[in-house]
Amino acid sequence: MSSPSLLTYLRNNLEELKQKGLYNEIQVLQGGNGPTIRIGDRELINLSSNNYLGLAGDERLIRAAEQALHKYGVGAGAVRTINGTMDLHEELESKLAKFKQTEAAIAYQSGFNCNMAAISAVMEAGDAILSDELNHASIIDGCRLTKAKVIRYKHSDMADLELQAKTARESGQYNKIMVITDGVFSMDGDIAKLPEIVEIAERYDLITYVDDAHGSGVLGKGAGTVKHFGLSDKIDFQIGTLSKAIGVVGGYVAGRRELIDWLKVRSRPFLFSTATPPAIVAACIAALDILTNSTDLQEKLWNNAAYLRNGLTQLGFQTGHTETPIIPCIIGDEVLTQRFSKELFEAGVYAKAIVFPTVPKGTGRIRNMPTAAHTTEMLDQALATYERVKKQIGAGV
Ligand code: PMP
Repeated sequence: MSSPSLLTYLRNNLEELKQKGLYNEIQVLQGGNGPTIRIGDRELINLSSNNYLGLAGDERLIRAAEQALHKYGVGAGAVRTINGTMDLHEELESKLAKFKQTEAAIAYQSGFNCNMAAISAVMEAGDAILSDELNHASIIDGCRLTKAKVIRYKHSDMADLELQAKTARESGQYNKIMVITDGVFSMDGDIAKLPEIVEIAERYDLITYVDDAHGSGVLGKGAGTVKHFGLSDKIDFQIGTLSKAIGVVGGYVAGRRELIDWLKVRSRPFLFSTATPPAIVAACIAALDILTNSTDLQEKLWNNAAYLRNGLTQLGFQTGHTETPIIPCIIGDEVLTQRFSKELFEAGVYAKAIVFPTVPKGTGRIRNMPTAAHTTEMLDQALATYERVKKQIGAGV
């Protein structure tokens, strides 16, 4: 028996979402996530994953996971502080620190709970957080878990950040003040202005926090956005995911030894949630080894991104101000954008529509994320499909 008031609440809200066209029907994939995916009996070109380097299906990661599975079993058994931590988790963390050029690192079960963990372990009542208005949901939720005052600044607007930092510092109301930003913004593919952010942080004594979920493995020869700008010793919290370019799942913080020691005794997902399964950790280590030894995959990724972006531009599409392999194809009108994505899907290209309220009204776009694993033939096929759908839908696109 369900509570009648719960059922009414759920039915009304689900109906409202469906009527507004905001209810997301999730596609079921028959098989893994690669440059193509199988949905039903159709094979589609996949431009919707964050598997930037194609590592999610890489044989080397699979072998590493298999070996760990046989040696360590399926589950980690407990929280690391309760039942001891496996050597694999320690190895992953020391490799992450090396990869990010920091003293130490701590790994979490996902990028999402990593942000929940890290922000709330350090920020508290009497503090303030300056947060870019386009920061990821996990940052927003991480901030909400603290009793700190959250002040949003306009997206990548350094004059606004400076004003907010100055006002907050000079008010004398706050103890610690943190500035927090995505390294690469996932809707437009633009890069945070880290050199300016660091300058402002130095001027007003701000703690610096960069969530580089989309830059790690992609920018800075793989080491990420902070390395791209040569700022490894200037950022207090370097956050990354193991779920995107690394191809597996997980999140981490890299930084000073004292910070990592503190997170190990204060961050709640570390203290109260079972550790990542060992096979997953082994696959992450194998991915990091690949990234440390070669930049071939990054080169392929960037070549593919340039190829797709040029192709779309030549077809007359606007790709906004992306600086990374996240390539929005801006259609504008919400209904038209949804229709465009649906037609692409019918014609064999899986590229999701992103519309209001995820992005501002009138800036609906199809978000394309080519990977290192796409072949030129696949990208050509995707471009030919874009061209066909554009003709089919007609003027205004
Ligand atoms: N931060 C950012 C900026 C992200 O885009 C995402 C994933 N969409 C996350 C954190 C969460 O990472 P994960 O998928 O590993 O939980």
